[in-house]
Parts: sequence; C-alpha cells; structure tokens
Amino acid sequence: MRIGLFGGTFNPIHRGHLLIAEQTRDHLSLDRVLFIPSGDPPHKQTESLAPAHHRLEMVKLAIATYSHFRLTDLESRSTHKSYTVETLHTLRQQEAGELWFIVGLDAFLDFPTWKGATQLLTAANFVVISRPGSTFTQLSALSLLPSLPSTGLKTLDDGHETRIEIATSSQTSLTLLRLPPCEISASVIRSRVTQGLTVSDWLPVPVQSYIIHHRLYSSY
Ligand code: ATP
Repeated sequence: MRIGLFGGTFNPIHRGHLLIAEQTRDHLSLDRVLFIPSGDPPHKQTESLAPAHHRLEMVKLAIATYSHFRLTDLESRSTHKSYTVETLHTLRQQEAGELWFIVGLDAFLDFPTWKGATQLLTAANFVVISRPGSTFTQLSALSLLPSLPSTGLKTLDDGHETRIEIATSSQTSLTLLRLPPCEISASVIRSRVTQGLTVSDWLPVPVQSYIIHHRLYSSY
C-alpha cells in the first residue's frame, strides 16, 4: 500500500489542492491520499486562519466524492502546535504501508527550518511538487538536502523533465515532480471573499456554500 500524506492549512481547501493530490496520486501510483489539515501550524501566521474545525469540515466536504482521498483530524484536533516530524511518527504507527509526504515547492524551500529536518527525510518518502513562483533550481541553495544535480533541477524548471528521484536512505527517496502549473491560491481566494468577489471557479460548490453559511473570511 502506497499512501500519500497531504498536509496544509487548507484555509480554505480549493480545486487546486484537489487537482494536485489527484495528479500526484497518478504519477506515483499512490493507493490513497490522506489529507491532514493543520491545527495551529508552525509555519503560517494565524491572522485570517479560520478555526481548525471549520477547515477540517471544508476538507471533508471537498473530498467526499473522491474515492481515494481520506481525511485525518490528527493535527486539527491537537491543542498544541503540530510538527511534521511528530505527525509522521504517529502515522507510521497507524498506517500500514509506504508513506509519501506531498509538499509544494514554496513550502519545501523552508525545509531546513522544519523541526527535526535531518531525521525527516529518512522518516518517509518526500514528494515536492512544482508551484508557480518558485523554481526547483532554488533548492540547490538549501543545506540538509542530499546533493541535488543542478543540471537536473534546471531540466525540471525548463519543462524537459517531469520527475527526478533521489535516494535519501536505503528505503526512502525525495521525488521532485513537475505538474502542470496551477495558479490557484488560498490567500487570493480569502481576499476575494473578504471583498465580496466571486470565487466559484476555484472552490468545490459545498465548500463555497460552507464559507457563505459560516461567514468565513468575511468582514461583515
Ligand atoms: P496560499 O495559497 O495562501 O499560499 P496554500 O494553499 O499554499 O496557501 P496550504 O493549504 O498550507 O496553503 O497548502 C497545502 C500544500 O499545497 C502546500 O504544500 C502548498 O505548497 C501546496 N499548494 C497550494 N497551492 C498550490 C498550487 N497552486 N500549486 C502547487 N502547490 C500548491
């Protein structure tokens, strides 16, 4: 069993998140993808962050029609800050199978600051997916990573290569995966909701209804 782990604030979850999870599942032949909405995340400001129970509920609504997607409240029910290293430790005991931690390139560029970064790369397989605004070449400046072939990184950025896989231990790997560019951003969605502008193109219908019903991200 190959299990993708997709953590995030999901503030709110949008069609881009669903697309990324689906495309990554296809590329890596994952049996399922487990969404892990954060509670009180270490790498995001808490301003304009909807309460964890609302973000959890929106993920539940968004993935309801996807048979390979699952949801855990492991982080969102926690009353203290959740760190990836601890989440992976818990999930390794709960899930029987290979774990593949999916993260966007923008978030992964902060990797050296993550708690327990050195152990993390050998605790699970990592999949770093492209995101407009960041380049794989930027990864070559990061310490803590296995030596990354700079020519290979450029071929990914140029679109000549789709995927590079680097061994991080005898059992784990770091995969860099270029997906079709997805311009959807949760912060843009929040800002548009606050301004009363339409966001229906980017949100699953039940998520949009939930936001309206609970007056999330709205100043009135
Ligand atoms: P914002 O868009 O406001 O920056 P976010 O969507 O990045 O918010 P999260 O919900 O924490 O915030 O994102 C979950 C994961 O999805 C992160 O690893 C992030 O890098 C990735 N991600 C989000 N949007 C995209 C996108 N458009 N393309 C690629 N990866 C993305």
